[in-house]
Amino acid sequence: MIRAERIKEAVTVPMAAEYYGLRSSRQGFCCCPFHAEKTPSCKLNKEYFYCFGCQEHGDVINLVAQVLDVSVGEAMRQLENDFHIAPESKPSKERIMKKCEKRDENAEYRVLNRYYKRLKRYLAENAPQSSEEELDELFVYAQQHISFAEYLLESFGREDVQQEVKRIEFESKELDAIEKMRRIAG
Ligand SMILES: [Zn+2]
Repeated sequence: MIRAERIKEAVTVPMAAEYYGLRSSRQGFCCCPFHAEKTPSCKLNKEYFYCFGCQEHGDVINLVAQVLDVSVGEAMRQLENDFHIAPESKPSKERIMKKCEKRDENAEYRVLNRYYKRLKRYLAENAPQSSEEELDELFVYAQQHISFAEYLLESFGREDVQQEVKRIEFESKELDAIEKMRRIAG
């Protein structure tokens, strides 16, 4: 929502008139701030005002600018201040950067987590059925790497862990290839 709209949504014309000392009748007429008069002929509607004497009209911001004798920009600032309207904050560069970092971090965490689950699966599925059976390559790999994977998950966020994630991403691709070859071999 643009700034002026936010202000107009928060502050009606009569609200501002009252706040800035424009006295109005019960019918909502006040003495026009745009021309000198003794009988009120400026009608204050909720969203706009209209003067039957000088035909001046406008919204709450125009009215406040005239009453306070300031520019429209200053009137907006004043209204935001007096009615506690927070100026809309644009997403800062920093915030966008943080978001991206977070996204990268999540991606890294997923790589690690997938790797860890994969090792657990190797331990469960590729365990030898008897003591004579030759140890499966993936089973051995999992045995050798699972503690380290656990450690990385626990210390996630540290810089040295980030380095390891790159290596693990690469190794995961190799493991994918081995699994694929096995599936083809049946
Ligand atoms: Zn007038």
